[in-house]
Amino acid sequence: MNDQVSTLMADVKAKNPSEPEFHQAVQEVVESLSPVLDQHPEYRKGKILERIIEPERVIMFRVPWQDDQGELHVNRGFRIQMNSAIGPYKGGLRFHPSVNLGILKFLAFEQVFKNALTTLPMGGGKGGADFDPKGKSDSEVMRFCQAFMAELYRHIGPYRDVPAGDIGVGGREIGFLFGMDKKLRNEFTGVLTGKALEWGGSLIRPQATGYGAVYFAAEMLKTRHEGLEGMSCLVSGSGNVAQYTVEKLNNMGARPLTLSDSGGYIYDEAGIKEEKLSFIMDLKNVRRGRIAEYANKFKSATYTPFDPKLDYNPLWDHKAQCAFPSATQNEINAKDAANLLRNGVYVVSEGANMPTTIEGVNQFLDAKILYGPGKAANAGGVATSGLEMAQNSMRLSWTRDEVDSRLLLIMQAIHKVCFQTAEKYGTPGNYVNGANIAGFLKVANAMMDQGLV
Ligand code: NDP
Repeated sequence: MNDQVSTLMADVKAKNPSEPEFHQAVQEVVESLSPVLDQHPEYRKGKILERIIEPERVIMFRVPWQDDQGELHVNRGFRIQMNSAIGPYKGGLRFHPSVNLGILKFLAFEQVFKNALTTLPMGGGKGGADFDPKGKSDSEVMRFCQAFMAELYRHIGPYRDVPAGDIGVGGREIGFLFGMDKKLRNEFTGVLTGKALEWGGSLIRPQATGYGAVYFAAEMLKTRHEGLEGMSCLVSGSGNVAQYTVEKLNNMGARPLTLSDSGGYIYDEAGIKEEKLSFIMDLKNVRRGRIAEYANKFKSATYTPFDPKLDYNPLWDHKAQCAFPSATQNEINAKDAANLLRNGVYVVSEGANMPTTIEGVNQFLDAKILYGPGKAANAGGVATSGLEMAQNSMRLSWTRDEVDSRLLLIMQAIHKVCFQTAEKYGTPGNYVNGANIAGFLKVANAMMDQGLV
């Protein structure tokens, strides 16, 4: 760390105590930016960095709701409106017991750069609650969503802030949230993305993050004149992103071998083919069961429960060429990164947000593998949300092929700008620097143009 980065990080830590994930996300970005700030003293003078790490607004609120037994509960809701320099705030809602201010600030911060890379006019935001949808009935989830929206609706809108899904917020939750917003506002507006097709959603939005992460991996491989055909792939998670990563890997002739949930992981040496993926989709999206069931159903698979005493994740300790972390932040630590490299993995495309610790990232960069950080590799989701917003504004729907081909073009454009920017700033092949610098430049220039606001 150079002196300027150390001073800035000391300030960030003092001002935002107990928010390690936010510190981590900021450190990774500011470490990339030194050459840009050296070339552009106007950004230093305009205090762009100091302004970009301070949310424009943080909303924190009480969410009281009643369970099926009549018992009352109080959760904490959040919306971080991080940066609106290039468009309305845009970013998902996460419902998970681990949610806190620091985690949402890291996600909102990452979102600013990611959204800038998509080529679409979207600012950055993120929100959610420390509510755990697991084990709750549909009525309980509905009542929670309604209570959450009873406050959030006054802070969002198609020209202000457009939330979407994230961990624990899928089609069911978006439906309940949208219904409550519509009732309170007495207006049918594109206030959320990830909606169902019949009421304003976009084809390919559910698939977009996973498909996009695979398209990004394919683009990285193209730089070495290679493709995904026949590649063995480790995938973590078994939710929205993981499912459509597996689907696209199969479409492209690759061999996805693993999936996980918070309880453990399955390794299927025969590959998680289409019919097995249908089982997963039913298990996770309809029956809301545990991944362990997969190994009871398919004999080619083994299930390993996670052992909290282990200091590494055994999912990352299998021979493969590619890894698609698609569960949550910091799921690849230094030891996992070393295991991946030792097992022959040389393509990592992050479907999840910040799934790799800084020590893990440094190992990937030192090994000069094809490493696509989340803010570039998983930007297909928010990009397609941007396409959903465009369709809502025009009051029409594009076909599946039209949205998918736009998604592919956007992922190719993101890859290109990251690749070229990394080269321009003297670190060829370093997609971390490429993504951070390219995203920053777009937002910084908009902030300079708009004055001190
Ligand atoms: P889902 O809720 O659909 O799935 C999350 C999956 O990850 C589940 O299998 C879940 O297991 C597992 N998981 C979650 N938290 C943990 C944890 N602390 N430890 C172990 N496993 C965990 O979420 P998504 O698929 O939508 O999101 C996955 C990742 O992708 C997140 O990092 C998200 O921020 C990122 N992302 C999502 C986008 C989207 O469009 N949905 C867009 C861009 C990024 P279990 O069910 O047991 O909790």
